[in-house]
Amino acid sequence: MKSLTREELRSEMAKRGEKTFRGDQIYEWIHKKLAESFTQMSNLSRDLREQLEEEYEYVSLEIVEVQRSKLDGTCKYLFRLPDGYVIESVLMPYHHGNSVCISSQAGCRMGCRFCASTIGGLERNLRPSEMLDQVYQIQKDSGERVSNVVIMGTGEPLDNYTNLLTFLHLLSDEGGLNISQRNITVSTCGIVPGIRQLAEEKLQITLAISLHAPTQEKRQKLMPVANKYHLEEVLDACAYYFRKTGRRITFEYSLLGGINDSLEDAEALAALVKPIGGHVNLIPVNPVTERDFVRPGKKVIDNFKNKLENCGINGTLRREMGRDIDGACGQLRKRYMKDRPENSPFGHKNYARGEKGGDKC
Ligand code: SAH
Repeated sequence: MKSLTREELRSEMAKRGEKTFRGDQIYEWIHKKLAESFTQMSNLSRDLREQLEEEYEYVSLEIVEVQRSKLDGTCKYLFRLPDGYVIESVLMPYHHGNSVCISSQAGCRMGCRFCASTIGGLERNLRPSEMLDQVYQIQKDSGERVSNVVIMGTGEPLDNYTNLLTFLHLLSDEGGLNISQRNITVSTCGIVPGIRQLAEEKLQITLAISLHAPTQEKRQKLMPVANKYHLEEVLDACAYYFRKTGRRITFEYSLLGGINDSLEDAEALAALVKPIGGHVNLIPVNPVTERDFVRPGKKVIDNFKNKLENCGINGTLRREMGRDIDGACGQLRKRYMKDRPENSPFGHKNYARGEKGGDKC
């Protein structure tokens, strides 16, 4: 029921022979008052509440664990989905407001070489309700208003396109949490048809592209998706997105020691980004136990950033959050599955493979 739009809820009520405004009341309970169940919906008759309880699913994620950073207030949440899978989200308090990083899938099938979340493959897509409830639960648990949402946790959002879109509409709806689309970022590894389709949706969200390499050859080695969509096609789609929406693209670039961190790489990156006019986020790689990637030293990072700037491109070095709490995504989830394989439908699989905690984002 949490995945339905207001209109869908209204017609659902009409179908049941109820007044359509019941749909509005329910919508408000779900998306504004963040109710935990139908039982709380006190302006509906007891009869109706009982019927709804019986006939519809009401998705409410269970908080399994919360890790709070003493350094910067970052909180990592581990949630259990109704069918037992676990996912992870992060709350990051910034001066300008509270930002939540959510997962769009349980697992991921994109196979980026440096990423921990893809190691067990894709478990399943998250429904709009399951994406929303990560934000709702965090807002309730922290007692603070969430102002920014980034879809940069586990999963590839454009590999779950329809659900993503419903989620974006519900999240930014005035009758719900009303999070400004300008404060929502969708990050993709570069699924070209998805980028082009998204450009048509008349959304004001920020699109982030995980680039990570300045040439097709290097990118192919790091990101299998590059075998399907050539770097040039990705950049064309970005230019199209910018033309259509007027929204500047953010390019994500994980710095991998000795692999994509040279001054030539910086120059090549600047040359790619310049015509599109985007912004570059530099993220020193979070080493993943199963992979050999290492962070470049501070000097290399500074030189890379300076080179970009000399070439006319602004690069922001992503501030590390929650250093003391396995701050990177994927780690808490993996540790949980390893420690308590019986608690996760796919925990055993990962456990048997002997995977240790990895991290990302
Ligand atoms: N699938 C989407 C969103 C999830 S990943 C995407 O690819 O954009 C969010 C970001 O974290 C991406 O830029 C991803 O490439 C990056 N990332 C993944 N693993 C990382 C790691 N170990 N260190 C640094 N960044 C990582």
